[in-house]
Amino acid sequence: MQNNATNEFSLAGYRALLAGLFEHGYSARDFSNYDAGSSHLILRHDIDMSISAACEVAALERDIGVTSTYFVLLRSELYSPFSEFGRAELIKLVELGHEVGLHLDASLYADDTAALDEAAAWECDLLERLIGRPVRIISLHRPAQSLINTQNTLGRRPHTYQQRYFSDIGYCSDSRGTWGYGHPYEHQAVQNKSALQLLTHPIWWTGEAVSPKVRLDRYLRGRHETLGQALADNCGIFDNGGMA
Ligand SMILES: [Zn+2]
Repeated sequence: MQNNATNEFSLAGYRALLAGLFEHGYSARDFSNYDAGSSHLILRHDIDMSISAACEVAALERDIGVTSTYFVLLRSELYSPFSEFGRAELIKLVELGHEVGLHLDASLYADDTAALDEAAAWECDLLERLIGRPVRIISLHRPAQSLINTQNTLGRRPHTYQQRYFSDIGYCSDSRGTWGYGHPYEHQAVQNKSALQLLTHPIWWTGEAVSPKVRLDRYLRGRHETLGQALADNCGIFDNGGMA
């Protein structure tokens, strides 16, 4: 199944990657309606850096008729889902037919089960108010080993690193903009035609197919421009023209 198109980190590459899996017999499901022994593909996107990038992937998925789950961070220095622009983009994800879940950074909270459970419930409540829809599932951002492969729920909701999603079915991720643990087509679950959770981060798939490092440099320049514009809009003494 693999060729140049299905190896490229771009929107076209993502489209080709999914097309190959569908040709292989897979169908897209979500975290609540898959069967571990069937060719079911759970599409998960963790939004670590850019909701705009997520919207581009979401539009592509809408175009090919699949739905997936986008997990959003509420407490990041890299983007704000509560800003006017951020919230509008989140609503766009919902309007494109996708599920929005919470991406929870457990490192921001005390290292005990009760505190994390309470934090998860609090963040889910905030996100539900923000998007006006129920938040049914959580994904952890860079989880500690102790949080992986557990049975426990968080904030009364399932999370994507529970054993049933993480090791009872196949799991494949594009962390750091590469298939560090092997291309999805090479995964044992795909060889067996059983269920696979495919985690991708939208930042690696939009724009030109360049190296992860170049992609991050470009992302940083874009954020710099946005910040410069916001400074100019909010404080008359700031000369945005001087930024160049
Ligand atoms: Zn993350």
